[in-house]
Amino acid sequence: MPKKRYSAFAIAREALRGHTGWDRAWAAPEPKDHYDVIIIGAGGHGLATAYYLGKNHGVRNVAILEKGWLGGGNTGRNTTIIRSNYLQDASAAIYEKSRSLYETLSQDLNYNVMFSPRGVMMLAQTQHEIRGYKRTAHANALQGVATEFIGPDRVKELCPIINIDGPRYPVLGALWQPRGGTARHDAVAWGYARACSDMGMHVIQRCEVTGVRSEGGKVTGVSTTKGEIGCGKLGIVVAGHSGVLAEMAGFRLPVESVALQALVSEPIKPCMDVVVMANTVHGYMSQSDKGEMVIGGGADGYNNYTQRGSFHHIEETVRALVETFPMISRLKMLRQWGGIVDMTGDRSPILSKTPLEGCFINCGWGTGGFKAIPGSGWGMAELIAEGSSPLTEEFGLNRFREGRFIDESVAAGVAH
Ligand SMILES: Cc1cc2nc3c(=O)[nH]c(=O)nc-3n(C[C@H](O)[C@H](O)[C@H](O)COP(=O)(O)OP(=O)(O)OC[C@H]3O[C@@H](n4cnc5c(N)ncnc54)[C@H](O)[C@@H]3O)c2cc1C
Repeated sequence: MPKKRYSAFAIAREALRGHTGWDRAWAAPEPKDHYDVIIIGAGGHGLATAYYLGKNHGVRNVAILEKGWLGGGNTGRNTTIIRSNYLQDASAAIYEKSRSLYETLSQDLNYNVMFSPRGVMMLAQTQHEIRGYKRTAHANALQGVATEFIGPDRVKELCPIINIDGPRYPVLGALWQPRGGTARHDAVAWGYARACSDMGMHVIQRCEVTGVRSEGGKVTGVSTTKGEIGCGKLGIVVAGHSGVLAEMAGFRLPVESVALQALVSEPIKPCMDVVVMANTVHGYMSQSDKGEMVIGGGADGYNNYTQRGSFHHIEETVRALVETFPMISRLKMLRQWGGIVDMTGDRSPILSKTPLEGCFINCGWGTGGFKAIPGSGWGMAELIAEGSSPLTEEFGLNRFREGRFIDESVAAGVAH
């Protein structure tokens, strides 16, 4: 028998099938007329919500509707920092739940999300930051989150490429979380999507939600570019587009949408095996498995929906970091991009029921929601299935009316 010949494309497609599960997730199923639950947004938070609805609560008649492609929003655009060193108890609870779920996520999903607990340090470069981070370290000790405040010598030992005697901002210490780290962002979306698909859920891409339908104050379904679809409950999980979807559902949100940008350098030999955030100079850096230096800075200073990078951002971020990491002055930058993040005033997320009965919202993760994907999905699924969850209780929309803010401006204002 003659040997069958495969084209390079077919070989690549077969390889991808095994790796991403795209044959199941990508070959979009036709929407049914009605689902028990519809989740809008196939980013990490939407997919994780669907996954834990099925796994923890047995709710499997679920569709996840995505206007673009799997993980094509912020989930596939972020710089993948995972940590749980927040100040307030409610935050530490959800972020630490999330970090601990990341530890075994590859085994849980049977999909390698490449969780790498290499350690995260947040540099203290002013007296004010020293006090702030020592306070967080004490709070974390009470919350059972393992962090410590370390001195400049230990910083240099952990990350030799840092210049600790910077002329403007010498490194005075750091908040160090040894079990923080990174994971592969696309794999998190693909792993959850494949697991949802295996449970019989429908992950439907290129299906934009254009309207929310209701009767007597209760949600009944959505209008989409693939037609009308009915549902018993609805979860809106669309990050930077939350305000747009909330308007369709008839309520307003206290969030602003802005672009957040990042960039990577050319690949170089391994030189940094921790994640470093320098919030005073406004930049952070880690090294990817490919060798690229992954670099991010602050969000754009004005509200916008431009999902792309800009030259001024490269200049600002690299200029800020060069003082602390002089070696990057000689690096060529390879790519840059942007995502639309949804910022609340207290820099904490919203996981909540809404004024429309049966409609739930998960948003406001701002610059730092990748790390929260498993914990947020866990809590959100419980909220949708059972009506309440200890993980989401403090993060309701009612806190803005009551003035009960969960202030994380130090942990999340600049940091990711
Ligand atoms: C440059 C950058 C760096 C970041 N760095 C970090 C970091 O280091 N660590 C960290 O923890 N976090 C980081 N973040 C934040 C993190 O990426 C987000 O908080 C998180 O990914 C949000 O996930 P999500 O699932 O809520 O949103 P997304 O991944 O954005 O998913 C929402 C989805 O909803 C879809 N959608 C929108 N409107 C509709 C509609 N009408 N119909 C159907 N679908 C719709 C979108 O297409 C999108 O795919 C960063 C973000 C950016 C942009």
